[in-house]
Amino acid sequence: MAEQHPKVIKKEVGRLKKMPNLKDYKFARKEFSYDVHKDEIEFFVDGKMNAAYVAVDRHLKTPLKKRVALHIIDEGSTKHPTFEDIAMLSNRFANVLAKQGVKKGDRVFIFLPRIEELYVSFLGILKTGAIASTLFAAFGPDALFDRLNDSGAKIVVTDLTLKERVDKVRGRLPELQKVIVTGDYVPEEGELSYNQEMWSASKDFEIVHMEPEDRAYMLYTSGTTGRPKGVVHTHYDIIHQHLTTKWILDLQPDDIYWCTADPGWVTGIAYGILGPFSNGITSIVDARRFSAEKWYKVINDYKVTVWYTAPTAIRMMMKEGADIARKYDLSSLRHLASVGEPLNPEAIWWGLEHIGLAFHDNWWQTETGGILIANYPCMDVKVGSMGKPFPGITAGIVDDRGNEVPVKTEGNLAIRPGWPSMMVEIWNNKEKYDSYFKGGWYISGDRAWMDEDGYFWFVGRADDVIKTAGHRVGPFEVESALVEHPAVAEAGVIGKPDDMYGEIIKAFISLKKGHKPSDDLKADIKNFIKTKLAGHAYPKEIEFRDTLPKTRSGKIMRRVLKAQELGLPIGDLSTMED
Ligand code: ATP
Ligand code: MG
Repeated sequence: MAEQHPKVIKKEVGRLKKMPNLKDYKFARKEFSYDVHKDEIEFFVDGKMNAAYVAVDRHLKTPLKKRVALHIIDEGSTKHPTFEDIAMLSNRFANVLAKQGVKKGDRVFIFLPRIEELYVSFLGILKTGAIASTLFAAFGPDALFDRLNDSGAKIVVTDLTLKERVDKVRGRLPELQKVIVTGDYVPEEGELSYNQEMWSASKDFEIVHMEPEDRAYMLYTSGTTGRPKGVVHTHYDIIHQHLTTKWILDLQPDDIYWCTADPGWVTGIAYGILGPFSNGITSIVDARRFSAEKWYKVINDYKVTVWYTAPTAIRMMMKEGADIARKYDLSSLRHLASVGEPLNPEAIWWGLEHIGLAFHDNWWQTETGGILIANYPCMDVKVGSMGKPFPGITAGIVDDRGNEVPVKTEGNLAIRPGWPSMMVEIWNNKEKYDSYFKGGWYISGDRAWMDEDGYFWFVGRADDVIKTAGHRVGPFEVESALVEHPAVAEAGVIGKPDDMYGEIIKAFISLKKGHKPSDDLKADIKNFIKTKLAGHAYPKEIEFRDTLPKTRSGKIMRRVLKAQELGLPIGDLSTMED
């Protein structure tokens, strides 16, 4: 029964499966400065740096050199490159690029599935001083064109199957000089064979020394709320990624860490490459199509200890049922974290029941370059809360003019600018960049509130908050209540214009296996919600859908539900799942 679910998960450091890296949040917060921790990354003697050196090559002086950096699991094959392998291969790739005249500031894009070459080329690009970017492998030609055109990419690295899509748009990309193709391939005009070039390139490369604030990578946002933005980040980001990996994901030397995010999105870069590599941790990469069974088996076979995933993945596993989970040994796991969307309490309770651990929610954005608000292994988890700001981060809730609002009042989730991994530019769009900053705050575009203990609670995207009968209702609270109903797998909630109430709440619902849509079920769900939420917050309308529209990174696209409902133009769909 829902009533028996814990609202707070108490923590005692001594009772955790392992002593965490961060033992006392309050103390760390009081003492914190990034300067004190500068020694945890490495600068060159001239005071310059390179994130790829920090992530990989500095380990060559230590026993980490021989440690497996990645276990890459693909259909029918696996690969296990060490940090030394990655260092040498990325040097070779940097030489390949240098031969093409790639220099500091040039944009080099990677359009690859999760194969070794993706990781190698990303780090190789950083080594040359160029700006690296990744494109999710499921993108079609239009999505490719938008990003390559906007960024003025000079080189694209791709594989035999994806190349076709690049070919389709290449004629319209005057700045694109070379396409590098992995695998056994005889290159044509304007193309290079990755294998041939790598084979003839030296494994020695003089890593380009960069200023900490020099650009390192750029990534387009998920497109959940509108047209994706090209967010630009610096080499110095890595100090924040290093420390958050250590204190929030709690990675420790012998961990086997699995970040399930694709490197096409920021999580897959910051916490799939830079953060864990800098900490010298072995990671899992699963290049295969998702299935709950495969995922449990990966945890079982590789004895995964720390797992960083997303609500959408957790919901998919819940949808498949617990019988599959019981077939596998998941006891190696010791810490679970989640990001990307609000984490419904139901998902936390499911984790407690079937894995014996709570998922630790954390919040950040492509723009923030790293986790800013989190639940820590050493800190009580208030179920449904995003946790507290990372030591060194000042978060606040402000009104539209940038003034802080009282505790427990909904407002804009805002951050004091100047943390090391803050974006430095929106590519080609200074106006957009400037619009994020108001009254001395970075305004995130998300709505939230803070409780009396300093925990932050997500309400919804600013665009998604519903105004009904004079009340403001966040879709998250309604969706979380809906997924507690035994038949509901996923829910997306919108405000639908209404003459009487301003807006009414409409819920789109997909059902769990074994449940069929019916009017009785609708009524049952409505009654269920009435017992959970204030009267004004229950959905007057419910519509069943087989699936909900989602971004390719798994976020529910409420703007699409709304546009469909209202018969309005749907806008940019380049990141929507098929
Ligand atoms: P776009 O900016 O193009 O609309 P996006 O905002 O989804 O796309 P990302 O930068 O990938 O692009 O996602 C950041 C957003 O994801 C946050 O602003 C927030 O809305 C949501 N998010 C991330 N983590 C959490 C979390 N723990 N709880 C609630 N929402 C989260
Ligand atoms: Mg966003």
